[in-house]
Amino acid sequence: MTREEYARLYEKLYRLFDNATPLRQDCGVLCGGACCRGDEDTGMRLFPHEETPLRVVETEGARFAVCGGTCRREDRPLSCRIFPFFPTADERGRVRVIADPRAGSVCPLARHSEEVAFDPRFLRRVKKAGKLLARDAESLAFLKEITREIEEVSALNDLLRREK
Ligand code: SF4
Ligand code: SF4
Repeated sequence: MTREEYARLYEKLYRLFDNATPLRQDCGVLCGGACCRGDEDTGMRLFPHEETPLRVVETEGARFAVCGGTCRREDRPLSCRIFPFFPTADERGRVRVIADPRAGSVCPLARHSEEVAFDPRFLRRVKKAGKLLARDAESLAFLKEITREIEEVSALNDLLRREK
């Protein structure tokens, strides 16, 4: 896709989350906005060709938006908008939304995802975002790469739970 086509894709993806959040209420009051307590060394992973006005740091081919813990709502990268979920993709490109185990160290919703009544509208939008991304080969490859990372983290979490 061209740069302009990616820009249009991200506009569409961002719009999905203008008025949709994980809970019907502001979950930030539960945890004091734990996912936005970043510093100058931590960042949110950017999706392929995602542009941001925030500072970008690149490590080992991965790009991160570094915010220092504040941003304008309209500048939130996609990772922040879908947090603490991720639209995983299997080998055939089928998208499934899961609570991201990588978020568990920060987010109480991710830690207790099985007991939380998430807003189904939000979950549908994360799925829609995943499906839109999966139409692009590079973005689909990214979804699959992160899916493998998530599976590794889940396997490690399971191992640690069994050892307790
Ligand atoms: S850490 Fe989780 S519960 Fe807290 S504001 Fe972020 S998404 Fe909501
Ligand atoms: S970019 Fe904004 S929404 Fe994302 S972690 Fe930073 S302050 Fe929070």
